[in-house]
Amino acid sequence: MKKFLKVTAVVMVFAMLACFAACGADDKGAEKGTLVMATNAAFPPYEYKEGDAFVGIDIEIAQAIADKLDMTLEIKDVEFGSIIGGVQTGKFDMGIAGMTVTDERLKSVNFSTSYATGIQVVIVASGSDIKSLDDLKGDGSMKFGVQQDTTGDIYASDTAENGGYGEDNVIRYKTGADAVQALKAGKVQAVIIDNEPAKAFVEANEGLEILDAEWAREDYAIAIAKENTELLEKVNNALAELKDEGKLAEIINKYIPAK
Ligand code: GLN
Repeated sequence: MKKFLKVTAVVMVFAMLACFAACGADDKGAEKGTLVMATNAAFPPYEYKEGDAFVGIDIEIAQAIADKLDMTLEIKDVEFGSIIGGVQTGKFDMGIAGMTVTDERLKSVNFSTSYATGIQVVIVASGSDIKSLDDLKGDGSMKFGVQQDTTGDIYASDTAENGGYGEDNVIRYKTGADAVQALKAGKVQAVIIDNEPAKAFVEANEGLEILDAEWAREDYAIAIAKENTELLEKVNNALAELKDEGKLAEIINKYIPAK
């Protein structure tokens, strides 16, 4: 009987030790927080899909930040216009979507330090009468295609005195790709969009060209809820490290090879 007790005790100690090891590891796994990023994966080369996988500059930057924070990255692919609201309410921890820092958006969210420059350009049909920015007119003679809620939309829809073409002359599409299809179909005569996606769309579609001019120059940054200053600081530190390590340039060069 005594021996039996002894064996039982030994088994129990082993069982406890095994549990310590296994449960300990489990606890650690559970402790690793999730960093939820919202994006709109129709914006190559910043975010797009290859099969089921999310790829692009923003995806890799977000992953590198999550690695530095020892967190698991979770990607939510949503409409561009719902990113800021979702960040504001805490549905998403951050918005990374080739997102331009604007005064208006700064009223709703904070932005990290900028990690890239974006340029708004104009795509037209090859051989179009529109040869320069001066040929763009808000007099009803042409329609402008934009991706809804982007800076291209916001600026183009503005009044003439603010440099826009008027809301009535702008047609909003869910994605830049849809705006480009409308251009090909002759429904709009110009598409105003960020330069890198513009290049990707022109490459993928025949009969289009980009005007050799900058319509606007902007900074891309990561949107974070105003009250989440702790995450903002962590993200800014991570971005600074990625910059110092050359990792940021490496990611950008991978998708936008320097000429
Ligand atoms: N840079 C533009 C903006 O912030 C477009 C971004 C996008 O379409 N993903 O509005």
